[in-house]
Amino acid sequence: MNEKISLADVRQYFPILTEKIYGRPLTYLDNGATTQKPTQVIEACADIYRKQNANIHRGVHHLSNVCTEHYENARKTVAKHINAAEHSSIVFVRNTTEAINLVANAYGNTRLHVGDEVVVSQMEHHSNIVPWQLLCERIGATLRVIDITDNGELDLHSLEKILCSRTKIVSITHVSNVMGTVNDIKKICQMAHAVGAIAVVDAAQSVPHTVIDVVDLDCDFLAFSGHKVYAPLGSGALYGRKEILQDMQPWMGGGEMIDKVSFAGTTFADPPLRFEAGTPDYVAAVGLATALDFVDSVGLPIIEQHEKQLVDKIINGLKTIGGIRIVGEATNHSSAVSFLVGKSHPYDVGMILDKMGIAVRTGHHCAQPLMERLGIVGTVRASVAMYTTENDIDTLLNGVEFAKNMLS
Ligand SMILES: *Cc1c(COP(=O)(O)O)cnc(C)c1O
Repeated sequence: MNEKISLADVRQYFPILTEKIYGRPLTYLDNGATTQKPTQVIEACADIYRKQNANIHRGVHHLSNVCTEHYENARKTVAKHINAAEHSSIVFVRNTTEAINLVANAYGNTRLHVGDEVVVSQMEHHSNIVPWQLLCERIGATLRVIDITDNGELDLHSLEKILCSRTKIVSITHVSNVMGTVNDIKKICQMAHAVGAIAVVDAAQSVPHTVIDVVDLDCDFLAFSGHKVYAPLGSGALYGRKEILQDMQPWMGGGEMIDKVSFAGTTFADPPLRFEAGTPDYVAAVGLATALDFVDSVGLPIIEQHEKQLVDKIINGLKTIGGIRIVGEATNHSSAVSFLVGKSHPYDVGMILDKMGIAVRTGHHCAQPLMERLGIVGTVRASVAMYTTENDIDTLLNGVEFAKNMLS
């Protein structure tokens, strides 16, 4: 078991937080794009390269076996973290994008037929749009889109209307990366199942901020990126329901994913290895497990409550400044706040904040259809993490007020 880490102490584990930007302390509020890495993660990865590195799953030698064990233990840690009953339900991937493409190809290519429908929403990240568009083009299927309300919530009536016997896949984000809207994803999974469709959850923005239980959600697939949950770049996971994975054809072919290869035909390994062609980044997988252990030793309920307070502080603070439009004011709001400062371009606001050492994201946030729906070119987005402080938010609010005065 991991030792408990107090939320008040977490900053000391993130070396980057003491870096100076233009001589000022770093105020890092771009956690929705990627999070910083704690020493535990950096060291776990460095340690393997220093002392244990060897290719996995095929060596008879000691180091190969050690690394294989690390990799498979990491899989167990990921499974446990999201309450997957079987660790074979966890496929290691590079990120959310790869996970969704895997489902669109390995599931979609054989299960969908001309006239079938895939449902996404207006608030999806491009990673949860384009793979389905490509699938629909290949198959002759149709992509349907659920609308959102003006305050940035999913319109479940719109979903109700779209769902029908032609619906085969419903793929929705748990939390909007732009507006921070938390969707009632459990209900959406139920609605998908009611018409015989499978439910795919884009959990890129929820795994870092809340407890995820795939049994409770009753989803068929769930995708997330390690780098947004304090883990290394290039680490990520796809959860898949066991019976569905078992029935799926491979997407990529190569080493590791086979049972027997001959020119007369090849048989494939069982899941999850069937979907992990080639030498995997087992070091990243170990980094991911270490990051999830770190998160657990602080405690997701504690992190969630802390982040909720910070998000409220951002929203209230922006309202106090005046002349700020908050983009997306869902009742259930998590981790990210998007806004516009008067008529200023988000990019100009971001540039001014940057000079003050404040890192925010500006632009369309890989959600151009959402921007179109909202009738804007982009937003400024501040997104928090477990190490974000009240002081960071004060710095942001002062910065926004300064930018507003400069630009008006
Ligand atoms: C970041 C993000 C993605 C894509 O993640 P990658 O790590 O770039 O693959 C997909 N969906 C949401 C909601 C995201 O925030």
